[in-house]
Amino acid sequence: MASVLLLPLFRGVRMRDPREVLASVFGYHAFRGDQAAIIDHVAHGGDALVVMPTGGGKSLCYQIPALMRSGIAVVVSPLIALMQDQVAALKQLGVRAAVLNSTLSLDEAAATEGAMRRGELDLVYVAPERLVLPRFLSILERSELALFAIDEAHCVSQWGHDFRPEYLQLAVLAERFPAVPRVALTATADEPTRNDIIARLSLGKARQFISGFDRPNIRYNVTAKSNPRAQLARFLAAHRDEPGIIYCLSRKRVDDTAAALHGEGLNVLPYHAGLSASERNANQERFLRDDSMVMVATVAFGMGIDKPDVRFVFHADPPKSIEAYYQETGRAGRDGAPAEAHMLYGLQDMALLRQLLARGDGDEAHRRVERHKLTALWGYCESMRCRRQVLLEYFGDTREVTCGNCDSCLTPVTGWDGTVAAQKALSAIYRTGQRYGVGYLVDVLRGEGNERITRAGHDTLAVFGVGRDIEASTWQSVFRQLVAGGLVEVDVEGHGSLTLTPEARPVLRGEKSITFRPDLRPSAKAVRGPRAVEEDLSDPGDVALFHTLRGKRLELAKAQNVPPYVIFHDRTLREMARKKPKSLDELARVSGVGASKLERYGADFVALVAAHAHVGA
Ligand code: ADP
Ligand code: ZN
Repeated sequence: MASVLLLPLFRGVRMRDPREVLASVFGYHAFRGDQAAIIDHVAHGGDALVVMPTGGGKSLCYQIPALMRSGIAVVVSPLIALMQDQVAALKQLGVRAAVLNSTLSLDEAAATEGAMRRGELDLVYVAPERLVLPRFLSILERSELALFAIDEAHCVSQWGHDFRPEYLQLAVLAERFPAVPRVALTATADEPTRNDIIARLSLGKARQFISGFDRPNIRYNVTAKSNPRAQLARFLAAHRDEPGIIYCLSRKRVDDTAAALHGEGLNVLPYHAGLSASERNANQERFLRDDSMVMVATVAFGMGIDKPDVRFVFHADPPKSIEAYYQETGRAGRDGAPAEAHMLYGLQDMALLRQLLARGDGDEAHRRVERHKLTALWGYCESMRCRRQVLLEYFGDTREVTCGNCDSCLTPVTGWDGTVAAQKALSAIYRTGQRYGVGYLVDVLRGEGNERITRAGHDTLAVFGVGRDIEASTWQSVFRQLVAGGLVEVDVEGHGSLTLTPEARPVLRGEKSITFRPDLRPSAKAVRGPRAVEEDLSDPGDVALFHTLRGKRLELAKAQNVPPYVIFHDRTLREMARKKPKSLDELARVSGVGASKLERYGADFVALVAAHAHVGA
């Protein structure tokens, strides 16, 4: 009798210390951001809503409480591929985890359900439609439950970009299991979505943990298009053998770019909605499993891609809005290691996007919002300020300090007073009847006589030749910035002719001055700073060792048919290359090396480090 009464006290004793779990299981030595507070809250039975940017470390917020509390944790996740990789990663850590989804055979599913009932699992990942089946709910009622984690919780909201009707049924969890803590997690933080999550999942009493939007390890670069092929080639040359994503606006651009890069011997695959479902799946799978594959894709690719070691996202064509840009670039560097986001944009793109918008469906109010979003994006592109400051301000997060990790910070540019140039450019548009494109107007300004100009009599205009002192490429930049600033519009009917907007008037009248951002020359870009990715590996010997360690990782991953990053993250390998651990004890101090991985792979990696030291000496 007495022992029964004492049980609740002993349950407290059973609870492991979160730091100890972090170190021994995951091999990490400090919590990030709100992790410690969230884990403490949930481990003690509280409900929580966690909003954290991609790569912020949401998984640990339920995985550690799952290991601290007795019973099984049930994780709801909408994406099958993602569940499988998470479970593969947990198994590598020696955690007892399993998946229940439609890809399993009846026997496999029955085996997992049996293990659940017998209390042999720490975590089970379940698709939402299976979770709410009466049969499964009754299994849950007979199991000891540690907690429910609802991942990608924005899927419950119709506001979001990713609504899943099955998620609505998750409301049943609050009714059927009122004593089991529930934690909902998402990277989508806007308020309507957040309120929807709270209402639909009955999380009114949950504590909210909302982190900022910043992704400090992503380096932002934005460059005007001059020779896009060459610009892409130069970028890729600096990112050899790194996994990345190249986004293009259309299927055709994807196919052309992928074919060209493939022809140059690069490890690339295409992805767009025009490919068959099986081709798309195969390409996505190869991208996840390979550690140096580049995906050339339309924005159809990326949803739910949880590959943590994507080292770059290159926008060969600009995105449609700052929100889209943030989301697409956010697929880089989820592992927290340095990653690069590079965007090319040009006047043609602006015209094209405007045109798509004008043709698109939706009412005028909707179109006005979309136009506003495009304008904000151009403002970001042409800004001379710290990119991160501009980006975060757009989301309402104002920062005093510049980031030191974007092109504006690393290669500061000084604006030039373009008031007179702008007046000349605007006059050229006006005097030629608002019927010509940039190429023609630049010729008029530079006084380049050609037949078309003579025939139209434009060589007799006062503006003819008034811009000889400025290079053609600079004029191109001027026109682009006038469009971006909303003083000039590109005719959406497609001939590319420029017309003036009312915003041009004060500049033409000399009532308003204008500053332009100088376009950086490619050569200036090429010499700029070290590659983000190699910054913490300054010694060439360390870089070589890093590549050796990566080779070993790939070999181990292939043998087990798992993605390389579930063995070790790039960041862990880079730290090994820097610290060169001589023993298992020293290796255990490297971030990302927990007890299970130390036992499985420790000897191999210490031996490689030793062999490298020997060769190097
Ligand atoms: P999210 O789901 O928020 O996008 P993840 O949970 O996948 O992010 O975590 C992103 C990466 O950061 C993972 O590789 C994870 O192992 C790592 N990570 C999370 N928390 C920590 C920590 N405290 N210390 C070191 N690495 C961490
Ligand atoms: Zn900056």
